[in-house]
Amino acid sequence: MADNSPQNALLGLDRAELAALVESEGEGAYRAHQLLEAVYRERVESIEQISTLPQQLRLKLVEKRFSIGLPRIEKRFVSQDGTVRYLIEFADGQSVETVWMPEGDGGEEGDGTQTGDFTGPSPAAGPNRKWDRATICISSQVGCAVDCQFCLTALLGVKRNLSAGEIVGQVCALLKDQGVSPPEDRINLVFMGMGEPFLNYENFVKAVRLLVEEVGVAESRMTVSTAGIVPRIHDLGQEAIRPKLAISLNAPNDTLRTQLMPLNRKWNLHSLMTAAREFPLRNRERITFEYVLLSGVNDATCNAEEVVELLRGMRAKVNLIALNPGPGISFSTPERERVEAFQQVLIKAGIAAFVRRPRGRDIYAACGQLKRTVEIATAPVP
Ligand code: SAH
Repeated sequence: MADNSPQNALLGLDRAELAALVESEGEGAYRAHQLLEAVYRERVESIEQISTLPQQLRLKLVEKRFSIGLPRIEKRFVSQDGTVRYLIEFADGQSVETVWMPEGDGGEEGDGTQTGDFTGPSPAAGPNRKWDRATICISSQVGCAVDCQFCLTALLGVKRNLSAGEIVGQVCALLKDQGVSPPEDRINLVFMGMGEPFLNYENFVKAVRLLVEEVGVAESRMTVSTAGIVPRIHDLGQEAIRPKLAISLNAPNDTLRTQLMPLNRKWNLHSLMTAAREFPLRNRERITFEYVLLSGVNDATCNAEEVVELLRGMRAKVNLIALNPGPGISFSTPERERVEAFQQVLIKAGIAAFVRRPRGRDIYAACGQLKRTVEIATAPVP
């Protein structure tokens, strides 16, 4: 797939690549460190702003058409619950959505905030701050090719992959906009926005490395969610630096799963669950299984019993997500009682099960709602 990111963006380059760049300009290796600091920690917007570099070198880089490559925030939509949906634009005019979710909901409710252990207020949290940790939901592709029948992003199709710099750039743009910095501020990252990260695997993995090594977010605070690209689940298990793994299960048998997620024809539940069971977990780590509940389709207690069988003996937890509705989606959201009944079956069988709180449903920021929706009632904040 075409990668239309700007050729000369510094965002996305790692230490070795920046070292090669400054060397080719006849500069000392310590300049690479200054570039890393400026791009990933200070998050400057232009090369002119890199005050640690001599003016001459800045001019030379600009002449050679290098740029930082920080994406532009096109719009912000603010939810009543504090969630902010950002429309982020890249150099070629394509855009994705990135979601800011301040504050957790008790730590284990499954909206991604549980990726870090809660240990008290962040030292950086000032007296006026209403949150002491936040989760950023990142997109990995413009649109998505997977075609899950309940997901709004699927309606876009896939336009292109994001480069590593564009993936990291979303995080940098939001951190800058919110005026926060990890690791002082407790930031969790979830690769659960638009797109299928495992269909853009190389760029995703490089982005994770940059986020850990240069931006300063611990890998234990990151979770990647896949619709079930089985070979890449194996690959992820071999990575030295990797987020935690979440798998979008969504149905407990092949008939139902193929109907809801056509990719199940290629990688069925047997191959998916085998990969999940073989996944090398770290100390105290668990695999998360996400399960979107669709009224009258996959939300019966007998379906929950099937899930229990699938997960038997695994170090796993389940995040239940009541469908977030949207135009063009033909399913409906189950009643609260049905969600609770489903959850109870899992809990009684000894499986940790949480109901994910819908964040920012009013602004189309919740799971499965990311479709670059600009025509909504909530006024964008300029
Ligand atoms: N492609 C990846 C990550 C993006 S989807 C994946 O499939 O895992 C993130 C989560 O949102 C997935 O678990 C998905 O099943 C869920 N989701 C998709 N559409 C939804 C909807 N309309 N309501 C609730 N959750 C949805």
